[in-house]
Amino acid sequence: MRSAALAILTSLALAACAVAPPAPAPAPRASGDLPSPQQAADNFAAVVRKVEPVAERFCQAETPRQNCDFLITVDTTRRQPPNAFQTVDRAGRPVIVLTVALVAEVRNRDEMAFVLGHEAAHHIRGHIPRQQQSAVAGAVLGGILASIGGAGADAVRTAQDIGASVGARAYSKEFELEADALGTLIAYHAGYDPVVGAEYFNRIADPGNVFLGTHPPNDQRIETVRRTAAGLN
Ligand SMILES: [Zn+2]
Repeated sequence: MRSAALAILTSLALAACAVAPPAPAPAPRASGDLPSPQQAADNFAAVVRKVEPVAERFCQAETPRQNCDFLITVDTTRRQPPNAFQTVDRAGRPVIVLTVALVAEVRNRDEMAFVLGHEAAHHIRGHIPRQQQSAVAGAVLGGILASIGGAGADAVRTAQDIGASVGARAYSKEFELEADALGTLIAYHAGYDPVVGAEYFNRIADPGNVFLGTHPPNDQRIETVRRTAAGLN
């Protein structure tokens, strides 16, 4: 039952965000940097216990009409790259899913707290519905532009696909930075150091500032965390 639900969630993953860009793989590093499997599992359980109530408090304060009863879980169904995403189940309950590879790769509890805070922030700020609205608007605009150009039905359909893609990605960097800022606050109030947590970005592949890239450059994300955390002191 549980794994079936997770399999469905996994197929929805692309609609949501990812902490880590899907490719390329992170640079090799000494395995001594990483926690043991037991430590990684303990880190995950401990951080969930502390971050979840804080995330729910932020959610209820900012968006009391939303479902704020977070379910935080690990996708163990198949081999997935290090990744985390947020989605909602059919009942509207917000779900945060980390892949096993991410749980294993996160080096300490500060990093784990930051990842969870970031994903919770996507839900609190309504990024999935906002992203979908943006995608629809992009598709409509793409179709209109193709019609003006006198394109045939096939060309219009193609333009709609492209339009949807452009619309969906246009807000993505903004959403990621917004989630980094709110995730910083959630991690901090759960008792963790978000600046240490954001060190995770120093170890993953930097997507750079590529046109239409879905993730902001890593240094931009770290800067957002530092600025937000500085405001807490
Ligand atoms: Zn994200």
